[in-house]
Amino acid sequence: MASTTTGAGDRIDQVDLHEFKYSIDNIGTDASGNRAVARGSVTEFKAFALVITTRDGARGEYVSVHSGKSGVLVSQVRGLAPLVVGADPEAREAIFNKLKRAHRHFMAVGHSAIDIALWDMAGKSAKRPVWRLLGGYRDRLPTYASTLNGGRQGILDSKEAYADYARQCAELGYKGFKIHGWGEGDRKEEAGNILHVAKSLGTRMELMYDAASELRTFADAIYVGKACDEAGYYWYEDPFMDAGWSPHAARQLKTHVKTPLLLTEHVRGLETKVPWLVAGATDFVRTDPDYDMGITGAMKTAHLAEAFGLDCEVHAAGPAQRHCMAAMRNTNWYELSLVAPGVRNPVPPVFGSGYSDELEAVGPDGCFPVPVGPGLGVEYDWDYINKNRVSLQTFRR
Ligand SMILES: [Mg+2]
Repeated sequence: MASTTTGAGDRIDQVDLHEFKYSIDNIGTDASGNRAVARGSVTEFKAFALVITTRDGARGEYVSVHSGKSGVLVSQVRGLAPLVVGADPEAREAIFNKLKRAHRHFMAVGHSAIDIALWDMAGKSAKRPVWRLLGGYRDRLPTYASTLNGGRQGILDSKEAYADYARQCAELGYKGFKIHGWGEGDRKEEAGNILHVAKSLGTRMELMYDAASELRTFADAIYVGKACDEAGYYWYEDPFMDAGWSPHAARQLKTHVKTPLLLTEHVRGLETKVPWLVAGATDFVRTDPDYDMGITGAMKTAHLAEAFGLDCEVHAAGPAQRHCMAAMRNTNWYELSLVAPGVRNPVPPVFGSGYSDELEAVGPDGCFPVPVGPGLGVEYDWDYINKNRVSLQTFRR
């Protein structure tokens, strides 16, 4: 990597990968294998913390918020970490391109945590929050509450339960509410829920529906989409079991359904999203710094959408997501995922510095704040990580 081997700048000396575990009450698994609410169940999650240090003592840290997918991410981080040891930590663009090619068969999702830790380091070195380095646009993030998948055991187990919860969110200040339904993908049940929640809430909140690719057929996607149309939903997300991979199917769906579509959450990287935009197959573009090759990759996607005159909605809740959104004009909502009545958000319980993605942390203006400290602006609870650690791998020069 010629661009990172010249000059006398600092070098990445060591990468530490800590895996740790934690448990969440009242979460189990639904028919699709998704996390879903389940009263009385306890699920153990694994997460990881990545620490990058340099010869001159700079340090960048990151804990991925996607614990449900931690195993996939960790295995890629393990494969990519040796490739950045010895590199210039400020050469994020050169590293982006090197790792993209190295894991081209696997869409380079493991690069995400490495890139975010390097942004944390850059912010700490400059004593500035990351979103300011990216180019600040906003410091309050309008937020929708995004539910966990519904259950059959006493939590979000009926359309009435969803409507009650939406009302509770509205009372806390939320201006938006997104339904993840039941994992079975029963079109009549899902459409009934969409209509009932809208009828109960009136115009108090914007409503979104995310099928998370659970509806079985294209016909089911049309059926549920018509319920979104009738109820005036803000967007209709990843409708059916093409897995959100077919721009052709989405374009066809748009001839039957009027509600704006949100797709490309399951399409990794930058170039792969372009055909969706060229084909007019989605109304909102999706990106996630934890999956789309970091803050560097997520901001490239945001600017790609901007070039097409479209909005780019950031997936999931977490510090990296907040910094990206704070530096974007063409976006609308922070996704406070994943919440349900009486269930703690299943993100790793290691955030300090007053940072919280719990439901009650929303401001009276319906917004979440952007961290203002250096780097990601979040101190991690290293006592917790060390106490619950299940493995530690170190990569050195
Ligand atoms: Mg989604």
